[in-house]
Amino acid sequence: MSKLTIQSIEAIIVDLPLRRLQRFAAVGANSTSIVLVRMRTKDGLEGIGEAVTPSGPWWGGESVETIKLMIDEQIAPVLTGTDAFDLAPSMARLDRALFGNAFAKASVEMAMLDLQGKALGVPVHDLMGGKRRASLPCSWPLATGEASSEIEEAERMLESKRHNIFKLKMGAVDPVQDVERACAVARGLEGRASVRGDPNEMWDETTTKWAVPRMADAGIVMVEQPMARWNLAASARLTARSNCAIMIDEGLCTPQDMLRIAEMRAADLVSLKVMKSAGLLATRRIADIAEAGGISLYMGTFLECSIGTAANMQLCATLADLPYGGELSGPGLVAEDIAVQAARYVDFELQLEEGVGLAVEVDEDKLKAFRRDRTYSVHASRKSMSAKA
Ligand SMILES: [Mg+2]
Repeated sequence: MSKLTIQSIEAIIVDLPLRRLQRFAAVGANSTSIVLVRMRTKDGLEGIGEAVTPSGPWWGGESVETIKLMIDEQIAPVLTGTDAFDLAPSMARLDRALFGNAFAKASVEMAMLDLQGKALGVPVHDLMGGKRRASLPCSWPLATGEASSEIEEAERMLESKRHNIFKLKMGAVDPVQDVERACAVARGLEGRASVRGDPNEMWDETTTKWAVPRMADAGIVMVEQPMARWNLAASARLTARSNCAIMIDEGLCTPQDMLRIAEMRAADLVSLKVMKSAGLLATRRIADIAEAGGISLYMGTFLECSIGTAANMQLCATLADLPYGGELSGPGLVAEDIAVQAARYVDFELQLEEGVGLAVEVDEDKLKAFRRDRTYSVHASRKSMSAKA
């Protein structure tokens, strides 16, 4: 097998409109921005990847602007000239060269795996142990903050057989009002859908102690990361006493985090996300630790468009047991996508596409229409600063 020598890495910021306002605990958003990575080899092969943040740096500290800057100025110089088959040594080299920046690292790892798959003529899941599922039951985020409109939105998803699992984004308003709204939605959809809640770390232990039993009584089956990410002890106490499932998301990024969660039995299940854990392979290692520790898995998302969703689905295809499914629903939130074939949801499940690499391609016209053409080069801005001086 000839080498896959990386010749260039391009990072392009793309701004995509959303279909409706998405409200998180920290921010509300009408659009989303991604970074598309195009990695080309000497022989003319191209691998692609996507980085996305949930509407800015509030979740993980990175934004699309820092991701592009880090790829252009720090990551590309490390990887250019190396072999895309040398994935583990390259990721180790990146970890030595720059601390953190998991989202940026994940997007280039994605492109390297896409290149490998294309060169070998196999899908990425074949490179990661093989296929154990061909579809994923997917949750839809309800995030307008108003129960009646959220129930209507859920009804439309049920009718079109797109989603029958719903996750309420919580934490933006007073907890009493928030829990009332969540319980109203759960009761409105009782017997027809699975409803979960995600306050994104906004509650203290006292509030959580009050809120979670009320939510469970209303039929909510799972509560995600109600308390601060560092407070594993409180999460362990909550898990031990709750009669609905407790999931950790923000509290899990690294394999070491996963080991601690399993040792402390700090959750019933954990949200796997390729972005926060710096790539598909690292996320796969986390899944193995969780399984060994008896903690269930859930396929999480940062609302990637169809490129990143295809990559997530490649990893997801290798996971056998996902008792609460996942939430790879980003493609449904964007009004425009940049993939030739947008993600497909059939009978409430996201489908794994057939094809080599990540099994997804860039729509060049859409990319042209939505790319943000600005330069974030440190050298360029230094030059312009000295020119002004
Ligand atoms: Mg979450």
